[in-house]
Amino acid sequence: MNQLRADVLGTKLQSKPADNGVGLGRLLSLRILTTLTLLLVVVASFAAESPYDAINAEAATAVIETLPMRGGLGMLEGSGGNITVLAGADGTLLVDGGIALSRKRLEEAINALGPGPIKYVINTHWHWDHTDSNAWLHHRGAILIGHPNTAKNLASVITIEDWGHTFEPVPADARPTVLVNQTETMEFDGEDVEISAYQAAHTNGDLAVYFKKANVLATGDTYWNGHYPFIDYAVGGSIDGMIAAAQRNIDLVNDKSIVVPGHGPLGTRADLIEYKHMLVDIRDKVSILKKGGMSLDQVIAEKPSAAYDAKWGDFVIGPPLFLKFVYLGV
Ligand SMILES: [Zn+2]
Repeated sequence: MNQLRADVLGTKLQSKPADNGVGLGRLLSLRILTTLTLLLVVVASFAAESPYDAINAEAATAVIETLPMRGGLGMLEGSGGNITVLAGADGTLLVDGGIALSRKRLEEAINALGPGPIKYVINTHWHWDHTDSNAWLHHRGAILIGHPNTAKNLASVITIEDWGHTFEPVPADARPTVLVNQTETMEFDGEDVEISAYQAAHTNGDLAVYFKKANVLATGDTYWNGHYPFIDYAVGGSIDGMIAAAQRNIDLVNDKSIVVPGHGPLGTRADLIEYKHMLVDIRDKVSILKKGGMSLDQVIAEKPSAAYDAKWGDFVIGPPLFLKFVYLGV
């Protein structure tokens, strides 16, 4: 059933399929900031505190970097997960909103892309590094859009052991109220914004957002560019779901697409293909070892991801933790 409510959105809905049109829009006339290293600081600080606390502490002071794309789109980096901004005559639409401690610098960065009101925020999934700003964005007037399971997870008590944190329910006005569990397209700022649900992958409520004219895909955390991904088994995520989502992302784009990952720099279709091959190869290797009777510790000692660790294993999720996520799902 169509759950995206046109009366709430006040925008035109369309049902035609994606045409992968390459609308090369105007480049934003902003200064280009390209340094992508600040999250390494987060890794360095993990030793002393939980990942949750460390990432929050980083977001409290981090510079927000803006990467202009095309068609009125930009990516903001430096407040948890990547944020995609569409700014134009209708106002501003965000895909994810980062961490609330970054509010002042996020508002400056968003305003620099477009001074119009923030009308919509699409949550790619429930994790706080993507949804923690929901409250202040809603108080500024934004309508929150998300998967039904994102709304449910944000209303639940959920412990993520690997982050060292238990998440309490957020206030009702910080949860999405426009819910998407299939594929919906809305017109905004002259763009056709296609919102579509994955099967359970990184979580049980992942959404992709594809800007058809600009040919830009925001994948949420189904894709981490250059990093082993977190997989949230607490709510039904799995390695096989991540592989299916990776294939879906490949199918959604073409060779001219820009891909906004949940974490890491902007990518391409070729990057998505390399990522999927990495996931599949490690999954297959771990599956053989587990079916042969190995414990998780024995699998980790066997180093089945060794060929990938130098490229993918130096961020938040190191090789042992990623192997644990794979082992849990095979
Ligand atoms: Zn996530």
